[in-house]
Order: sequence, then C-alpha cells, then structure tokens
Amino acid sequence: MAINFNRVEFVLSAVRPEAFIRDGLPQVTFAGRSNVGKSSVINRLLGRKNFARVGATPGKTTQINYFRVDGQMYLTDLPGYGYAQVSKAERDRWGALMERYFAEQGLITLGVQIVDARHKPTADDVTMYNWFKGTGCPVIVVANKLDKLKKSEIEPNLQQIRTVLALTQEDMLIPFSAEKGTGRDELLGAISRMAKKV
Ligand code: GDP
Repeated sequence: MAINFNRVEFVLSAVRPEAFIRDGLPQVTFAGRSNVGKSSVINRLLGRKNFARVGATPGKTTQINYFRVDGQMYLTDLPGYGYAQVSKAERDRWGALMERYFAEQGLITLGVQIVDARHKPTADDVTMYNWFKGTGCPVIVVANKLDKLKKSEIEPNLQQIRTVLALTQEDMLIPFSAEKGTGRDELLGAISRMAKKV
C-alpha cells in the first residue's frame, strides 16, 4: 500500500532524549542548516502551506518535531544548525540533543540531508552528513533552491556537493526546489521505497 503523504499529523516536539519516539515505525529524519529551506521542503512534500514552520526564528528552538504520515512512518524534523546569532547555551543544548539522537541505535530509518544547491556544503553540513552515515542508515542528499541557479551552474554545483560530501555513485543526490516543486516526486518515491523496506 502506498504511503499517503497528505495524511499527516503533528505528534510531539522532543526537547529531551526521554521524549524520542521509539515505537518501531520507520523514521525519516530531515536535517539542514537554518534557512536552507528545510521547512519549505517538508511543506512541499506534504502539500501543505505551513505545516513545518517557515521562517521561524532561526535556531531559537532546540527541539525535534515528529509528524506521523498516514499512520505508517514518522517524518522527523531536526532543529536547524549554523545560525550565527545563536547563544553558546543554545548551541550546547543543540549539540547535547543531537549527540543523544545520533548515538541511539535504531531511531533513524533514512536520513534526508538538505543542502543549498548554490553553495559548497558547509563544515556543519559535512559533520551532519557524517553523523547520519555513522548510524549506518541510508542518506539522501537534497540540493534545495535549485530555481536560484542558472542552467549552466547546475551540473558543476551538484558535482561540488558530491565531492565535498564524498558521495559515491550509489548515494542519492536530488536537485530540488521547494519553491517550484522540482524533485518532489523523486524524493517522495525514494522515501516511500526506503520506509517500506523496514
Ligand atoms: P529553514 O530555516 O531551513 O526551515 O528554511 P525556510 O523553509 O524557513 O526557508 C528559508 C527561506 O528560503 C524562506 O524565505 C523560503 O521562502 C526560502 N526558500 C526555501 N526553499 C526555497 C527554494 O527552493 N527556492 C527559493 N527561491 N527559496 C526558497
């Protein structure tokens, strides 16, 4: 049975590891730098305008948001990172929560790492991607804001992302535009396939 991505409900925000969901349903976990368009990508996938919060004060909330999709899987939204104006206390909270999240076996079924199609992945992007890899889960890299590139820039930029993150030929990199909808079907297809393998 296909997953109906329009059937989605917010479940909870975890600010502490005790609240992580551990009920055995597959979890597809989204990560990305603040402002990369993570909320916009999620909203585009779900066909909603404002489900994940777009333009929420960047880096102000260190919490993991869980959405249940069609009763079959969770879409897990990790707090954005890399926002310069965040206090040290907030950054520490983020680090402590992520450390626990990535150290625990069996939480993540599939990682979705969102990067900016215009730029070289940041050091934080590389760290995050490697944390996903370290859990042994498959990871899809989504290069968002594709609509902001000139046609001639697309291939070189995608190649740069592949090189900096050290992707292999098998690793999936999906050019995406939350604004235009580019890549939506490909990403939904990949999520459906991998969430159902479990
Ligand atoms: P988040 O902090 O990663 O959740 O980012 P948001 O979803 O709040 O998006 C940050 C800004 O980028 C907003 O102004 C969005 O409208 C814009 N944005 C997000 N995705 C795209 C995209 O694919 N193309 C363009 N042109 N703008 C985008």
